[in-house]
Amino acid sequence: MDALLADPRTAAWLEAWGRDPVRGAFRQVLEECRRDLAAGAPDHLSGSADAIFERVERRLTLAARPSLRRVINGTGVVLHTNLGRAPLAAEAVRAQAEAVGYGNVEFSLDTGERGSRYDHCAGLLCELTGAEAALVTNNNAAAVSLVVNELARGREVVVSRGELVEIGGSFRIPDVVIRSGARLREVGTTNRTRAADYEGALGLDTGLLLRVHPSNYRVEGFASRPDLADLVAVAGRAGLPLAHDIGSGLLDAALLPGFPPEPSVRDSLRAGADLVTWSGDKLLGGPQAGLIAGRAALVARLRRNPLLRAFRVDKTTLAALEATLQLHRDPDRAASRIPTLRMLRESATSIASRARESLARHDLPALPQPVTLAVETSRSVVGGGAFPGFELESAAWVVRGVDPDRLAAFCRAGEPPLVGRVRDAAFLVDLRTIPGGEEAEALGILTTAAVRAMEGT
Ligand SMILES: *Cc1c(COP(=O)(O)O)cnc(C)c1O
Repeated sequence: MDALLADPRTAAWLEAWGRDPVRGAFRQVLEECRRDLAAGAPDHLSGSADAIFERVERRLTLAARPSLRRVINGTGVVLHTNLGRAPLAAEAVRAQAEAVGYGNVEFSLDTGERGSRYDHCAGLLCELTGAEAALVTNNNAAAVSLVVNELARGREVVVSRGELVEIGGSFRIPDVVIRSGARLREVGTTNRTRAADYEGALGLDTGLLLRVHPSNYRVEGFASRPDLADLVAVAGRAGLPLAHDIGSGLLDAALLPGFPPEPSVRDSLRAGADLVTWSGDKLLGGPQAGLIAGRAALVARLRRNPLLRAFRVDKTTLAALEATLQLHRDPDRAASRIPTLRMLRESATSIASRARESLARHDLPALPQPVTLAVETSRSVVGGGAFPGFELESAAWVVRGVDPDRLAAFCRAGEPPLVGRVRDAAFLVDLRTIPGGEEAEALGILTTAAVRAMEGT
């Protein structure tokens, strides 16, 4: 062991990884080699110094590789929750990097006294949504939970049966209501709920009317629910608050022209919802956060709720959110600088020409017979529970002639990993979610993986 640690090859590793990890790696590899030799492995694979050093280096490199890694999203799902939802705008990344050190998170630079972290994005949120007051939590699940807990603890929350949805990742409206200390009062049926159903359920025990955007799920056919304005009237007559969880959180419908109607924060507040909750990392295109906007008196109560401490938003998130909201002040800037909006707005023609040009421009390895790589039309989706059932025409690199699941696995083993989609017998990489400038990298991983996937088959 001392001889190995004194070897010049080891010096660089000690510098990069520290004494204990290097020692540990040698110990494990030596044990492995002894076992292999005892089992009859050839000397050059297990017994030589070179073999040992090679194994140690591989082990150290793997151990130091971060678990959370950048991937190339070739799925065409823009708000892919498993792949981290919204990629941040460059402005947000800069603001976030700036915020990692000391900052006036809870400190007033005017008075030199204690300030509130909840003041930082509130002004911008009010300006952008038209709300009287706003609050930021660490995600929308926390926002909904806080609203229910504050306004209906020990009382009833009235929700339509058609909106008792599971959003995914175990966010289920009934569970959230109950775990937040309230009782669930279901009204209407799965497919149809009327304003009168709500009205009939209200009583002394009611704390809150909750309207939920069903997000990833759609009831079609004989289905209806009251307009938000009708619910507002019901809540108003009863003197009860109405909260609207819109989830995906488009600030303004004009940001996505040509898309089907989706509730926007502004429309919901204008229609009279007392509080609106939504996610920071869905259509807003910012960091993971929960946003609450609405009546000042209600937001003031939420700010005093002790649960808010558990739902507290981090300073780097606040910084990224503030920078994202700054971009939203000008819809044109938002559309061109915020990656999710840019991806959602890119035309199929533009995506197809990026797909074709990059294929033509780059020297690609010859693909073994019978593998083919071509540009074909594809359909991408918004994701994140926004615009359920709506598909955007797009373009993809499509590889055929190789087991698509095997190719998918080799793409995931790429540096960085590339995640695509398997469709029928083909493997697709949709370019809507691959930003301009990253095509060559993605193509390199795809073609290398295709060659590897064919080796030995
Ligand atoms: C996505 C979503 C949530 C959960 O938001 P997170 O920010 O992921 O916690 C809650 N409600 C609705 C309607 C959603 O679409």
